[in-house]
Amino acid sequence: MDFALSPAQQEIKDRAAEFADREVAPHAAGWDREERYPAEVFEKLSEAGFMGLCVPEEYGGAGEDFLSYVLLIEEISRADAGVGVTLAVHTSAGTLPVLIYGNEEQKARFVPDLARGEKIGCFALTEPSTGSDTAAIEARAERVDGGYRLSGHKQWVTNGRAAGTMVVFARIPGGVTAFVVDMDEEGISFGKHAEKMGVLSATTDDVLLENVFVPVENRLGEEGKGIGVALGTLDGGRIGIAAQAVGIAEAAFRYAARYASERTTFGKPIAEHQAIAFKLAEMQTKIRAARLLTHEAAWMKDQDTKHGEAGARAKLFASTAANEVTYDAVQVLGGQGYMKDHPVERYYRDARVTEIYEGTSEIQRLVISRGILRELEDSPESPGGIQGSRPVVG
Ligand SMILES: Cc1cc2nc3c(=O)[nH]c(=O)nc-3n(C[C@H](O)[C@H](O)[C@H](O)COP(=O)(O)OP(=O)(O)OC[C@H]3O[C@@H](n4cnc5c(N)ncnc54)[C@H](O)[C@@H]3O)c2cc1C
Repeated sequence: MDFALSPAQQEIKDRAAEFADREVAPHAAGWDREERYPAEVFEKLSEAGFMGLCVPEEYGGAGEDFLSYVLLIEEISRADAGVGVTLAVHTSAGTLPVLIYGNEEQKARFVPDLARGEKIGCFALTEPSTGSDTAAIEARAERVDGGYRLSGHKQWVTNGRAAGTMVVFARIPGGVTAFVVDMDEEGISFGKHAEKMGVLSATTDDVLLENVFVPVENRLGEEGKGIGVALGTLDGGRIGIAAQAVGIAEAAFRYAARYASERTTFGKPIAEHQAIAFKLAEMQTKIRAARLLTHEAAWMKDQDTKHGEAGARAKLFASTAANEVTYDAVQVLGGQGYMKDHPVERYYRDARVTEIYEGTSEIQRLVISRGILRELEDSPESPGGIQGSRPVVG
């Protein structure tokens, strides 16, 4: 058992923190106020090698492990959660599925541009009529000579307008199928730009597909196997969102702790009132526990072991912690916490969505509880009586 980062991981964490403090944090309040997607920051992230950090060098990436990527997402999200989710979706939902499910030709054609940040990736699964129930998507792929024609409405696609490449899911008679598509294909347009509560520096757009021709070479995996691609991608993606949540919570904690040491009431710093001191203790403890679960899940992914439930546990716990910690940070600042003069108001809004995207907290509980039941079923000690009365999930 070793809780220390390797020297290479520590170096990436330090570089990411330095980048976040220099290039992101000073602008975050302005981007939030203007709801501006800061394209220039992604050029700088590309120059730093951060747009394809965990992509192998042979495909244009930096060749680091997934845990290093998680360290990067935490540090960037500490500075700006919108930039954090843009980078997370680009990497784990826009790039890694091509690397994991694509054939050699697809990997060579799509991944290097993404890994170098020359193109931004996006992931289009959700539709107006369905989010959690992925198998119910209605977008259609019609088989035509040489490929498919895709039609449908994809909702709330992170990076939509900014993206050059999209991993998209559509239904054919054989079932849901995954495709990787260039965003400049004829028939792709954008609907509503989402007006959100938080992560305002990220762009979230509806993507409309009207008879978009997609050559057969762009099908990701086999026909009818798209749900496996989607869920497998989200297994990894959730670890990134857990890291985003840890980053937001860490930012809120640091700000609240400093404020509490400086603000005095009744003749002493509020940090010396036990109600505030204990709040800070709980905030820090939750963050550290969330980080450990997140690192454990990333480590499991790096070991190529099953990590779906570990990722769900990390996301469930870290997103809950981020919401609780940012709530408490606002409270520690009192009236100032409610004002836009201080960043905790933004952290509070940004934290909310970590319980929603890449699977709501309810869906994480479903994933975890199904795992528990599977373990019980596989256990040789499982008594028939209990097994007989076990509730059926899924
Ligand atoms: C800012 C933002 C960015 C997003 N980016 C993307 C993106 O890039 N790509 C993409 O494809 N999607 C994206 N999404 C969509 C997101 O993944 C979905 O919103 C999410 O999966 C939930 O789906 P839904 O909103 O349709 O909620 P619903 O599925 O309608 O769920 C509504 C409520 O019912 C609960 N619920 C549903 N089913 C069950 C069940 N079986 N048991 C218990 N409770 C249940 C849910 O937990 C939730 O509380 C984004 C969303 C947001 C807000």
